[in-house]
Amino acid sequence: MAEPLVSIRNVIKRYRRGKQAVEVLHDLSLDIQPGEFLAMMGPSGSGKTTLLNLIGGLDRPTQGEVVVGGERIDRLSSGQLAKWRSRHVGFVFQFYNLMPTLSAEANVELPLLLTRLNGKQRKANVAAALELVGLTDRRKHKPNELSGGQQQRVAIARAIVADPTLLVCDEPTGDLDRENAEEVLGLLQQLNREQGKTIIMVTHDPKAADHASRIVHLDKGALAAEAVGAAA
Ligand code: ADP
Ligand code: MG
Repeated sequence: MAEPLVSIRNVIKRYRRGKQAVEVLHDLSLDIQPGEFLAMMGPSGSGKTTLLNLIGGLDRPTQGEVVVGGERIDRLSSGQLAKWRSRHVGFVFQFYNLMPTLSAEANVELPLLLTRLNGKQRKANVAAALELVGLTDRRKHKPNELSGGQQQRVAIARAIVADPTLLVCDEPTGDLDRENAEEVLGLLQQLNREQGKTIIMVTHDPKAADHASRIVHLDKGALAAEAVGAAA
C-alpha cells in the first residue's frame, strides 16, 4: 500500500464554549490514499466540518497527529499553516464564498496573489482553470450574473488554480438543484480521475456520495461505518 496522503492519528478536538470544553472529535483515526475521492457523511453536528478543517489545515487538533503529504501540519504555527494551505489545499464551500465585486477571473486569480507568479503566468493559470470548468465565456461576469452551479464552478476553478494536491469540499452541492449538483459532481469526478486530485467531500446527499470511491460515516465525533463508493 502506498504512503497515505492524509493520516489522522488519535485526533481529539475540543471547543471551548464559555467555561465548558466540548469534545467534538473523540480519538479519531483515518487514512486517505493519494487519488482517492472520499465522501464523508453523517448527521448534522457529527463533526464533519471540524474534521475537514483539520485535514485542510484551517484548524488544529487539541490532541493527536494530522499528517498530510508527509508533513505534521498539527505542529505548524498559524502563519506556517496559512502558507502550507496556499500550496497544498483547495477549498470548496457550500455557499461558494466568491467576492461579489470581482469578476469570475479576478476571483479565480485571488489564491495566486499569494504566490511568486508574475501577472502573465497568473493570467495563463486563470485561463486554464476557467477552461477546465467550462466557463471561459463567462470570465468577465460577476457572481450575481451567474447561476449557482456556475458560481460553484468558479469556486472550483479558484480551488484548483494553484494546482493543489488535495481538494476539500464542504457540502459543495448543498445549495444546488439536481441538475447543477450533477454538473459540479461530474466536474469533481473529472478532476479526480484526469488531474489526479485527491478529493474529500462532505455531503448529506447519497447521490453525491455515489460519485466517490469510498464513503465514511461520522456519528457523534467518531467514525461509524465505511463503504466502497459506487465510483470505486
Ligand atoms: P457537522 O459539519 O457534521 O455538521 P461540525 O463539525 O460543524 O459538524 O460541528 C460539530 C460540533 O462542534 C457541533 O456540536 C458544533 O456545535 C460544535 N462546534 C463547531 N465549531 C465550533 C466552534 N468554533 N466552537 C464551539 N463549538 C463548535
Ligand atoms: Mg458542517
